[in-house]
Amino acid sequence: MSSPSHLSLILDLTPVPWDALSHSTPPLRLKDFLAQALVFINAHLALRNENSVSVFGALPGRSMILYPPAGSTQVEADENTFHVFGQVDEGFMRSVEQEVEDLQEVEEDVPPALVGALTKSLCYINRLSNPPPPSNPSEAPPPPPHSRILLFSVSPDASVAYIPFMNCIFSAQKLKVAIDVCKLDESEVIFLHQACHLTGGAFVPITQREALLQYLSMCFLSETETRKTLAVPTLDKVDFRAACFCHKEIVDIGYVCSVCLSIFCQPVLECSTCRTKFSPDTLLRFGNMNLNGHAHTHSNGTVTA
Ligand SMILES: [Zn+2]
Ligand SMILES: [Zn+2]
Repeated sequence: MSSPSHLSLILDLTPVPWDALSHSTPPLRLKDFLAQALVFINAHLALRNENSVSVFGALPGRSMILYPPAGSTQVEADENTFHVFGQVDEGFMRSVEQEVEDLQEVEEDVPPALVGALTKSLCYINRLSNPPPPSNPSEAPPPPPHSRILLFSVSPDASVAYIPFMNCIFSAQKLKVAIDVCKLDESEVIFLHQACHLTGGAFVPITQREALLQYLSMCFLSETETRKTLAVPTLDKVDFRAACFCHKEIVDIGYVCSVCLSIFCQPVLECSTCRTKFSPDTLLRFGNMNLNGHAHTHSNGTVTA
């Protein structure tokens, strides 16, 4: 028997870009987006009885689990609704409304806590992939689900979070979890490109917002196994530039520590990550350098620490 499928959604709920999206043409309001995301979640759950879903939210400086709810919440039985749909609809909508309502005045330049949401999602998936042994040892445990992550992005990359973000990608690779990205606005996100490319996920920019549900069901509903026989959109070109560890800025040419592979935008005398010291002679070969904080170059070419 094949494994069921777990879908983990990550929603970027940052108010500023959502406000911009609701005033763009055609507009996409958060409320309409959530309604379409719910239809998509329900379609995933309807594919198989054992399928499951989790939803995480990222707000400026803070991330949280939106579904399943932390406490047990009673959902009134409605004989016209499949009970799982009812639970998700109620639980998910209630927590999103609660979180957005609780949001205090936000500073505009605080980036959404996508790394926090991604980490929570990966921990949740890790727990699902390693279930506790069944109480009755003669019983075969149910197969752990195949998991994947779908991230809805409305903000540009935050290069400050480059290192923890890459660590998330490596964890996802290890767990064999594909990261799909659905890009709702036009901002540039090279780290998300890399996440999709490195984990075998799909990157889909939504060019026609009125057809969002169609994009979701055509590109993201099939699980990773099935996708081998489908033509799911992938990126033709991936920008592999990295952010330097010293200023967290994206660099075209970087200097890599030969011991720990940390990236710097300028040659340094000592690696700030692993404290390896490099000989000034080696560094001199890089030519006219500005030894950032650790040393300075004299006009005669000698370097002092
Ligand atoms: Zn730098
Ligand atoms: Zn190093």
